[in-house]
Order: sequence, then structure tokens, then C-alpha cells
Amino acid sequence: MRKTILKKSVLLSLFSMIILFANAQQNIPLPYKLDKAALKNALEFEKNNHPLATSPVVIRVFFRIVDPVGGINPDITEDQIAQDFKHLVGAYSKDNICFINMGYDYIFNTALDTFNTSKDNYKIFLPYGLQNCITVFYIDRLGGKNNSSGGGYSGITYGVPSAWSIIAKSYAGKGVVEHELGHCFGLLHTFDYVNGNGLENIDGTNGSTSADLIADTKADPYAFAYENFSTCFSTTNGGCTYSGTCTDLKTRSDYSPPYTNLMSYWCSSFYPSYIITNGQYTRVTSFINTASALLPTESALTAVDGPYSLSSGYHMNSAVTTLTTSGTVLITGTSIASLGAGQTVFLEPGFDAVPGVGGRVLIRHSFCDTTSNGYTLNPKTATALVQNSAASEAAKGKDQLFVYPNPATSAIHVSFYLATAANNASIKIYDINMRPVKSIPLGMLTAGAHTVSEDVHSLKSGVYIVLLQLPNTIMKTKIVIVK
Ligand SMILES: [Zn+2]
Repeated sequence: MRKTILKKSVLLSLFSMIILFANAQQNIPLPYKLDKAALKNALEFEKNNHPLATSPVVIRVFFRIVDPVGGINPDITEDQIAQDFKHLVGAYSKDNICFINMGYDYIFNTALDTFNTSKDNYKIFLPYGLQNCITVFYIDRLGGKNNSSGGGYSGITYGVPSAWSIIAKSYAGKGVVEHELGHCFGLLHTFDYVNGNGLENIDGTNGSTSADLIADTKADPYAFAYENFSTCFSTTNGGCTYSGTCTDLKTRSDYSPPYTNLMSYWCSSFYPSYIITNGQYTRVTSFINTASALLPTESALTAVDGPYSLSSGYHMNSAVTTLTTSGTVLITGTSIASLGAGQTVFLEPGFDAVPGVGGRVLIRHSFCDTTSNGYTLNPKTATALVQNSAASEAAKGKDQLFVYPNPATSAIHVSFYLATAANNASIKIYDINMRPVKSIPLGMLTAGAHTVSEDVHSLKSGVYIVLLQLPNTIMKTKIVIVK
């Protein structure tokens, strides 16, 4: 089945899964297929519109860290997510395609955390994709064929175009995310062969109808590696530089591979600068503007948010310029809400965010600088972060325990509310095996809200239980220490 590069239909009939692999260096023919209707729409749009986006496009992205039940090894830090986000912005900013970081959270689910692409069903991720955002999942191990250990892939995107990708935790912050989102935006590999598009000529004469269907990306001999043409495909520099003798359909063999292209598989360590061509930008823009999977992830120019009342679940909204709340907006309970805009988020009278334990409200600004040929965006310029606090629970007149930040690195603040005074109170911290690591005597406590800060420099990375011991009751919560 891998005898010739031209028999694409045979391959397609053997594989029905819609899968894409990023940066895997194994010669594994793992095909994917296009959403043909979406491609048609994108091509039509491409034909009728200016190649490059003339007005800003802001795409919402949300990051979900998958963790086993019990949270043994979260691995990913907010800094790594910020790093990935920076990569993302850098890769697409020149074309006025930008992203807004809508936040992150944890999914405690062992089934999702170790995913084997050759035997596990990707559909288990579908219920966890956030509406209105591209969802990036970080999982512990991403494996597939020839990977009995369960490891080996850096990232995967199911379906083209798509609104979600999976990234192995060991590749967080290492720039895999922009390649995967390239697939989300409808880009194929520069060496693509599985869609029946055929081999691209070195002279580029069939560029727009072969391989990745983009005229200005170079013919990529990696196609031969995937067809197992070991007789003509060879490399030097640790597999990074092409030195083979493969010939194209016009019998030319002077390949000049697109080493630095975002959608090629050539070593990122050897060719660190990732390039997207104008043609790829055009394709991305087209898909963003026409694909049903992606349209909901795009920010409107301006947006009105509200009225609504939210006590659980997610609410994500953003605008390219201005987002304005309207009427009564009440965010409570375990809600995770994120509001963002390129210029201003107006919180009008009637806006009330009182998230409880596990809830979070993030109000974020994305900075667009079109004068410097695209956006620059600081993922950490949060103009307001409404954290859940014990004090806000005081009004409810019940005992609450809340520890922040979580994950924490150097210090934690233990906030709690006591409905009545308590004697002999203490805070105890245990590791995941319930071995005590810290004990903080508090003595006599009055009724009301209290916050105790504690240095946790000495604690290793991991999950800990924070326990508030009172004469008649114990309150506990789980925190993650990340070094
Ligand atoms: Zn890929």
C-alpha cells in the first residue's frame, strides 16, 4: 500500500480516521481528510477576497490541562502556557491574525491523560472542547503506532478545519501549538499526500493543486519519507537535512525543502525559524472566515455581553476593539468567565462577579499594534482578575476555605470564613500520601473572614492537601505546588 506516491485512493480507503500528526519524526503514514465543504468555502473566499487580512482578526483560545484523577502530576505551569501563547501570536501576527488567551483550567480525567492514537477514540475529547474557543488540551502522554510505550507525538489535531488540538505536556511551551493550530486553520503539511492531491513539482507548476494545495510553498521531499521510499530519501545532520535523490513527476531531483516552514516536518531544533508563506496566510484567513468549526471562535469587532446570570460552566466573550457588558451580569459559583477586548472592556453598572470556590472571572486586554505590521499581544496583561475569596462567601454566612494562588510556587494564602468563633484552630498541609509537611497553629479565632499566608518555598512540586482543623469540623482543599 505504500509502493507509490500516486495511489492515494488506496491509502484513503484503508484509513478512515481524520487525524493529523505534528512533528513526529517516524515514517508513519497517518492520513487525514479535509472537510470538503469547508475547503470549498475557503477557496471561494480566497478567490473573492484580498489575500491578507486587512482588518484584525482575534481568535479566542482556551487551554485545558488534563490531569489524572488525584492530580499527581499537573506538569504545566501558567508560564508554559504563556510561552505557547507567545509562539502562537508570533506565528500569525504578521497577517493581522491574533489570539486572545481566554484562560486555562484543569480536567481531572485519567482516560484523557494517556491517549493512544491508534486505539483510543478521539471523540472522548469532544465533550471537553469549550464553545466559542479553540481548545488546546495538554495531556501526559500522546502515543500511536510504533509507540508501545504510549509516548512519541508532540501534538495532534483531528479534522481540518478544527477547533481543538492535543499537545503532549512535554512539548508545552516549545512551539508545537502554532503548527497544530495551523491544522485547525485548514493548513496541510507541505509534504501532504494523503488527500489524493499528488506530488508537487519542484518547478512549482502544479503547486496550487498538489500536496498542500498552496502555490508558494516549496515541493517537499518529505512526501517520499512518508511513502517509505527509502531508496531515494536520505538525510544528513541527524535527519534534518535532505540529501536524497528522489525525483518529481518531471524527473527533477534538485529539491530545496521548505525546512523552516511551520507545516513541514524538518527538524525544528536545526531550523528554528518557522515561516508561514503568503499563500498559507491566505488559506488560514479563508478558513477562519468560512469554516463552521472556526467561525464561533472569532471575535466580533465590537460586542455587547449580557444580560445573563451564570452560576456554573463557562462564559467566553471577546471583541476586536470594545466589549461592553449590558444590564445585569451576575457571575457566581463555579463559573469560569473570561471577557476580553483589543482596546477596552467596559464593565457597566449591573456587572457583579462573585465567583465561589473553583470559579474564576478573567478580564483581559489584548494589545493590537497594526503600525508594526501586525499585532503584539501580551498574554499576561490582565487588567482585572476577580478571584474567588473566602471574604466574598462571608455574606452567605457559611464556613469556606480557599487557598490561592493555585498552582502556587513560593507562597500560599489560606482564606477562610468562620460562622462562629473557634478555639485551637490550626492549618495542616499534607502531601498526596497524607504525610504531614507543615503545621501552623492559629489558636483562638474570631468569627468572620481570615487569611493566613504561608511560605511554601521548601515544598517540592506536587499535589498537597491543605486542611483547616477546627474543634468541631475540618475543612480541606487541594493545591498544586509547581517549581
Ligand atoms: Zn502536523
